[in-house]
Amino acid sequence: MTEARKTALVTGASRGIGKAIALQLATQGLNVIVHYKREAAEAEAVVQAIRQHGVEAAALQADLSVPEAAIALGHAAWGVWGGIDVLVNNAGVSYKKHFLDNTPEDVDGFMNVNYKGALFLMQTIARHMVEEGRGGSIACITSVNGIRPGIGLSAYGASKAALESMVKSAAMELAPHNIRVNSFAVGAVETDINAGVRQQPELLQEVNAGIPMGRFGLPEEVAAVVSSMLLNDRYMTGSTITVDGGLLLMRGYGKAAPYTTKDQNT
Ligand code: NAP
Repeated sequence: MTEARKTALVTGASRGIGKAIALQLATQGLNVIVHYKREAAEAEAVVQAIRQHGVEAAALQADLSVPEAAIALGHAAWGVWGGIDVLVNNAGVSYKKHFLDNTPEDVDGFMNVNYKGALFLMQTIARHMVEEGRGGSIACITSVNGIRPGIGLSAYGASKAALESMVKSAAMELAPHNIRVNSFAVGAVETDINAGVRQQPELLQEVNAGIPMGRFGLPEEVAAVVSSMLLNDRYMTGSTITVDGGLLLMRGYGKAAPYTTKDQNT
């Protein structure tokens, strides 16, 4: 009897790093569920590209900033092929803002998607895994900014630091169920999230100078590391793998952004 294909759910897989991970897992023979929020046409294009590799693919929509939607996504994804072996919590939002300019909406926006969305989806999938007595592997895409605080990143960095911490607690609590949980702290990678930086030659030069490899990474370079861990891990959990061209080894980059909001207390 041939062994059933493994299945993966990748969030934010309509573009960027998530798309590259979804495609890489498909080349390794996994059936893949492509999650997206807005980009239905792009998600469908990823589904078609995955099928070219002779595996199954499906697209599911959810706004992960809403806990009920994250939980519903988990149940729906589990139901597509009767189980999930691999979950990649990749979807995220990121932008810079001066500490003094952060609003409650900014902080909620980062925490709701980057931390709470990942938590409630992961909890839903892990509950199914535990109930059915099957193990699995979960990867969370975090950021070097969740490990080393960055200028303009007090809210974003905190949301990724929260995710880093959650990964490690979950790794301990899920290990008895043979569910491994690891994080990938990503550095500067060429995607829509930082297109603005790459359009400014001076800023780009400054950022590149802070990276030992001297350049941004490519989504496919991150995907190769994530997929190889997901396909091979048996005894690895609670780890943070940095995929950053050496960025974390350096002193950091970024000048203090100007404070733009008038002091509302005076
Ligand atoms: P990207 O190209 O901007 O893609 C972001 C993805 O997240 C999209 O697929 C988007 O879905 C999804 N998403 C955003 N808000 C969502 C929400 N409320 N609900 C559900 N999905 C949502 O970003 P990326 O650069 O590939 O980033 C992927 C991950 O890597 C993120 O967690 C990011 O923080 C992390 N990261 C990236 C870098 C980098 O330099 N690129 C560095 C460090 C960490 P739709 O397109 O369908 O809306």
